[in-house]
Amino acid sequence: MRGGCVEYRPRYASQVSPGHAPAVTLTGMTSASSATPSRMRALTISAHGDLSQLNYSEVPVPELVQPGDVRVNIRAAALNRLDLWVLGGIPGISITPDWVVGSDGAGVIDAVGANVTGLRVGQRVIINPGVVDRACTCEYCRDGDQPLCLGYGVLGEHRHGTMAEYVVVPQENVQPIGDEVPFETAAAFPLATLTAWRMVVTRAQVKAGDDVLIWGIGGGVALAALQICKLLGANVWVTSGSDDKLARAKTLGADHLLNHRAGDAGKQARLATNKRGMDVVIDSVGEATWAQSLVALGKRGRLVTCGGTSGPMVQTDVRRMFWNQWTLMGSTMGNDAEFAAIAEQLRAGRLLPPVDSVYPLQRGRDAYARLMTGEQFGKVVVRVSGEGA
Ligand SMILES: [Zn+2]
Repeated sequence: MRGGCVEYRPRYASQVSPGHAPAVTLTGMTSASSATPSRMRALTISAHGDLSQLNYSEVPVPELVQPGDVRVNIRAAALNRLDLWVLGGIPGISITPDWVVGSDGAGVIDAVGANVTGLRVGQRVIINPGVVDRACTCEYCRDGDQPLCLGYGVLGEHRHGTMAEYVVVPQENVQPIGDEVPFETAAAFPLATLTAWRMVVTRAQVKAGDDVLIWGIGGGVALAALQICKLLGANVWVTSGSDDKLARAKTLGADHLLNHRAGDAGKQARLATNKRGMDVVIDSVGEATWAQSLVALGKRGRLVTCGGTSGPMVQTDVRRMFWNQWTLMGSTMGNDAEFAAIAEQLRAGRLLPPVDSVYPLQRGRDAYARLMTGEQFGKVVVRVSGEGA
């Protein structure tokens, strides 16, 4: 954590108010009213590399550090492409052995710090994987724009992650969910939906009637972007190399299906709109799609990117950019307000992420392998504790 952060190690028992003990003891798990074990099962790496670096291991249960922290007993976690980058190694990011992987998770609050308000032990929550020092007073934190803070980090990348029975995060990083949301669905939700929400709602400001092109339907962010665009009343164009994925996207509301194996998807979209082009393009592929994204982009078009899975270096013809008055913008993760907004959508049942497959924690390698195939439609989920783990 950054400077200005006061180290705080509570005497643990005093942090758990007896009045907040859960009414029921959760099957097979230690509730907060009895002793929490000192060790926990986790999926970890000790060095970067291939799948063989992933270990199903036992590590210490993390303790509350700040008085505003909560500890969550993770029931399910979900994989993101970020987890593959972390396994392979990211320049400038260092891990220490027995590094707990995973960014997304959902579970039950197991302990709360002295300054925690509005949350109680036993409450079901989803976790925002983007963490900042809550004492930070930088200009971005003051603006409530945490992802821009220099101290911003992501669970599993900069801090121990969610593929473990317990994780400790600031109280601002959790939002309650209802009993009706299965933990597998809840775990599949935060990172992809938060990322897509900021891209679609905050950055591109998609509105009813907009034509929006989304690359690579099947991935978590693309699917969340599709669902959010449909909530907003947009006209959504999706691409895939798989007719099966396109057909499934149609059931989620996609209006136009473009198989990029049948020809340049950007050109297809442009021709199909009588050369008007798209109002918005959502591109997280980068090198392989950028040129076609710009072919698809109409006048006043907004292109928003959250990554470059095929490579980072792209070319833009500045003449077309100024003449068409494009806005090309970046986006990453989301802030507290955006996290609250997506949690509200989840609680209302308006946004529910498709789950591709679910693996027990000890088969974490198989879950990673599934994501590596690129064949998934929706999120790859890992059951961490509770039933089916
Ligand atoms: Zn800050």
